[in-house]
Amino acid sequence: MNTLLGYRCSVCQAEYNPTQVQYTCPRDGGNLDVLLDISALQRAYQPEDITSRPQASLWRYQPLLPVSEPQESGTPLHSAGWTPLYRPERLAVSLGLRQLWLKDEGRNPTASFKDRASAIVVARARQIGAKVVVTASTGNAGAALAGMAAAIGQRAVILAPRTAPPAKIAQLLIYGAQVILVDGNYDQAFDLAVESAREFGWYCRNTGYNPFTAEGKKTAAFEIWEQLLLEEAFDRTLTIFVSVGDGNIISGLHKGFKDLRDLGWLNTMPRLFGIQAEGSAAVATAFAANTETITPVQAHTIADSISVDLPRDGLRALRAAQQTNGRYLTVSDDEILTAIAELGKVGIFAEPAGATAYAGLKAALRQGLIASDDPVLVLNTGSGLKDVRAAMQAVSQAPVIEPTLSALRAALR
Ligand SMILES: *Cc1c(COP(=O)(O)O)cnc(C)c1O
Ligand SMILES: [Zn+2]
Repeated sequence: MNTLLGYRCSVCQAEYNPTQVQYTCPRDGGNLDVLLDISALQRAYQPEDITSRPQASLWRYQPLLPVSEPQESGTPLHSAGWTPLYRPERLAVSLGLRQLWLKDEGRNPTASFKDRASAIVVARARQIGAKVVVTASTGNAGAALAGMAAAIGQRAVILAPRTAPPAKIAQLLIYGAQVILVDGNYDQAFDLAVESAREFGWYCRNTGYNPFTAEGKKTAAFEIWEQLLLEEAFDRTLTIFVSVGDGNIISGLHKGFKDLRDLGWLNTMPRLFGIQAEGSAAVATAFAANTETITPVQAHTIADSISVDLPRDGLRALRAAQQTNGRYLTVSDDEILTAIAELGKVGIFAEPAGATAYAGLKAALRQGLIASDDPVLVLNTGSGLKDVRAAMQAVSQAPVIEPTLSALRAALR
């Protein structure tokens, strides 16, 4: 079933058919929402038709996606998504919360949330016969594109800032993508990727530019719906904490919940709380000022994955919080490091941008924005193994001892 009707601009609301545009609105550069044939989907499917599908991956939601699943099977691309949902009891008690869940996106094939977007974009590239997919990336989007592309033999070119954490650069290289490090920041790499796609006829995956990335990211909302909302009868609204850089994850989550609501499968929208690093807070600043004008910043934060001067999906990211009765909050780099250490103590290893969402929950509790009986879900968007240098800053050094019992005794004291 082909359910892709076309696109609608998030700025001017102009609608386009599927072959008219590829990336953003030609009139104003606005991000495009993918339009699905909701009434055809309603006629064809009940929720059980989706939740009874066998795939333990985001492909269980293929009927609600604008791409088909690549024909190979059993590749990493086919296992993106369907990440575990934990219930960390001790953490909940220490925070004074009755119901706390943590969804660990570090468990994706390349260890970040970005696999969701890259799996869908690579599937789209296959469908339109693109020879090469290019992306700019602070690291994770590139690693995800490189990994998903390698899985099905697609060529990929990655433009990343030369300052990206070494583990992320290693992933890019190991997955066999053509890796070019840019002596500049993410925003400059972004513009170069757009230009290169135009110049060389490549397909561009850039976050918040290619409308299919949000379609991939929305699958996390479907999973929260299936793993939690269909299971628990909440009498209070679920609040979801997610870190925000370009704003494509939060807008993708919003799109997913809107799709479910439009299908009539979701009554109450979860509240979306976007968390930014203090040093990279363009969306949070616009939210606080109650304006849709997003002013670029000079980003500086330890959380490299959300270090963004100009959020490329800022408007939709802003609306995701506004339209769900959510908020934006900011946290300091110190709070992010503390969050890494606290999550580690319940068995979850997060990279700085992943732990940012949890740091945001603590800030929200301090500010009295969350009640003890509010159900809360925190997304960890990336694995701590992505940035070991930052992780080491979150803990004190291990002592080095002589290999004797007496030295061990002394060290244990
Ligand atoms: C990309 C990324 C984010 C932020 O996603 P945006 O769409 O840029 O807001 C958060 N955490 C991690 C680990 C990421 O890789
Ligand atoms: Zn427009």
